[in-house]
Order: sequence, then C-alpha cells, then structure tokens
Amino acid sequence: MGAIRNIVILTGAGVSAESGIATFRGPGGLWEGHRVEDVCTPEALARDPALVHRFYDLRRAALRDVRPNAAHTALARLDREWTGDLLIVTQNVDDLHERAGAERLVHMHGELQSALCAACGVRERWTDALPPETECPNCGTFALRPDIVFFGEMPYHMDRIEAALAAADLFVSIGTSGAVYPAAGFVQMADAYGADTLELNLERSAGSGFFARSELGAAGELVPAWVDTVLAAQSTQSSPMSR
Ligand code: NAD
Repeated sequence: MGAIRNIVILTGAGVSAESGIATFRGPGGLWEGHRVEDVCTPEALARDPALVHRFYDLRRAALRDVRPNAAHTALARLDREWTGDLLIVTQNVDDLHERAGAERLVHMHGELQSALCAACGVRERWTDALPPETECPNCGTFALRPDIVFFGEMPYHMDRIEAALAAADLFVSIGTSGAVYPAAGFVQMADAYGADTLELNLERSAGSGFFARSELGAAGELVPAWVDTVLAAQSTQSSPMSR
C-alpha cells in the first residue's frame, strides 16, 4: 500500500446484513415482500401513501432490535483514529454506523429516523410511526414523508461526496452490489482522479471489474482486518523512524 492520506468509503446493505437487516435482493426481486416500485418511488408515495408510510414505519421500528456489527465498529474505530481526511458515504438508511460511533458520515439515500416535509422542506428527527395524516411541526401541513431518497430522486450530499472523491487517495466500497447509480459510478470517478480502489464484498458485484482489487468475504471479517492494516500503515508512516 502506498502512502495514503484521504480515504472515501462507500457502504451498502451488505454492511448491515450481519446485524439482521435484509439486503435488497430477496427471492423474486422482492424487498421485504414488496416490489421496489410499490414502496420506493415518488409515484408509489402519491398513489398509496398509507402503504409506503407503513412500509417505512416497519423498517424504522425494526431498528430497535438490531445492533452494529464488527464492520460498523471497525469503521467507527478508523474514523476515530485516522488522522487524514475520511468520509464514510453510506447508502444505508439505518443508523448503525453512527450507533457504532462514526462521525465523518453522510447518508446519501436518507435516513429512516428522519421525516421530511415535502411542503416546507424542514427535517425532523423521527423515531416513531409516521402516518400520512401527521402534521408538520413547522408549517402545519400534512406533507411529512419518510426522509428517504426514492428511485428517480437526487441523492443527498453529492457536492461533498464528489469533492471527497476528487481528493481521495483510496476509495473503498463495502457490501454494495454496484447496481444503483450514482453510487455505482463512484469507483470510476475515484479512479479517474487517481485514487487506489478496493472492493470488500461477499461476492463479485456488478462493479467488481472497475476496482484495482476485490476481496470476497463477510464484512464482519474483512472490514476489521482491513482497518487493522490501514491503521498499522498509518502508524508506520507517522513514526519518526520512517521519515
Ligand atoms: P444490495 O442489496 O443491492 O447489495 C448488497 C450487497 O452486499 C450484495 O452485493 C451482497 O453480495 C453483499 N453482501 C451481502 N451480505 C454481505 C456481508 N455479510 N458482507 C459483505 N457483503 C455482503 O444493496 P445496496 O448495494 O446497498 O443497494 C444500493 C441501494 O439501492 C440502496 O441503498 C437502496 O437505496 C437502493 N435500493 C435498491 C433496491 C433494489 O432492489 N436494487 C431496493 C431498494 C433500494
């Protein structure tokens, strides 16, 4: 590994799988028993808000029964101990990265525990059910929705993510299928800017061919081992003996 200073990490559903949160590729292409277009699009929200709200209410309630796993804990340790720039970009809408202690983190696809008012744009932390008739505490309308980026909507924090990719020496993708853009294109952007690229995933993904290296295995094993390696390299780089 060459000298690295700036790291960008993209995480997907595979990082939370060992905590018991389902990934999106269930039998028959269903996600928790639903077709994606029935629960994860603006059209679905307009057509059947009760169904969409109930779906995310169940996902939000399920967060009470899950805990961060070894991959979340290792990434939080890296965040604490890495002295260079670091940004964890998660596609996950659970809060397991922050519960493990990660702080340099953005949720590009939104968060289950946040409500967004489609009328006034205010965001509220939301941990209970969010029925469609809930009044916005800011503007009083009934336009609150789950603060989730649906298919066809623009992901959050793209300016910050692109700036971090442009400055990255290393881009690491963990537990994501590489099928959903723009996240799936981050590896090519990072590579074009000159970063080294590494994929850690259970199996080969749609994007594996774009990475300089891919390691296959469970995130709960691969991530702690990788973090140990990176932090050991940092201490070698910063040791006076190595100057
Ligand atoms: P995904 O379910 O598409 O892929 C998960 C990846 O994690 C797979 O490549 C799998 O091999 C890997 N994996 C599973 N268990 C693992 C483990 N223990 N350790 C390491 N890797 C493991 O999830 P994604 O890539 O996060 O999906 C991207 C985005 O797609 C999501 O954030 C979501 O916004 C959106 N989405 C997609 C669908 C869909 O059907 N494609 C449905 C809803 C939402």
